[in-house]
Amino acid sequence: DNRLNLIQSRIRDFPDFPQKGIIFRDICPILKDPAALSAVTSLFEEHVRAQFQQVDLVVGLDARGFLFGPLLAQRLGVGFVLVRKKGKLPGATVSVAYNLEYGKAEAEIQEDAVAPGQKVILIDDLLATGGTLYAACSLMNQQRAEVLGCLVVVELKELNGADKIKPHPVYSLLKY
Ligand code: IMP
Repeated sequence: DNRLNLIQSRIRDFPDFPQKGIIFRDICPILKDPAALSAVTSLFEEHVRAQFQQVDLVVGLDARGFLFGPLLAQRLGVGFVLVRKKGKLPGATVSVAYNLEYGKAEAEIQEDAVAPGQKVILIDDLLATGGTLYAACSLMNQQRAEVLGCLVVVELKELNGADKIKPHPVYSLLKY
């Protein structure tokens, strides 16, 4: 698929960011190129439509899940919900602590963001160790929402993040 080549050409590598030994995959050039951004959205949309009969919400992860998530939600004609880092959301929230590839964090959603039984798709820019998506899946399970699957632009295969979020399926556009 030519769209994948286009998307891949719009990912930049930064060695030793944010720490020595880590190659940071920067998706900003995708956003700067409307054709590449549209390619990402279309590939996600086609996958979701082919795999799932009913989707109620797209749930985006802080922060780059917020860039792709609303575009997909609009294409699917469903709403978008934010999973944020702790302390950013007003009102009653539920949170979960988790480990990052480099550091620790806490993820949070508004208590009324998802209803029991709602079918949700999680979305982020990149899957590394899976800690972040695992935390978001836990929040959804706590709220008794049904996680249909997780979408990422980039998956770092050697970190086995997809294993961590099993049994929830992961769909990644590019694997490194
Ligand atoms: P994980 O929790 O280890 O899977 O890390 C994934 C989270 O960290 C995602 O929210 C990513 O945005 C971020 N992240 C980790 N490594 C990278 C990278 O190389 N490029 C962009 N984001 C990254």
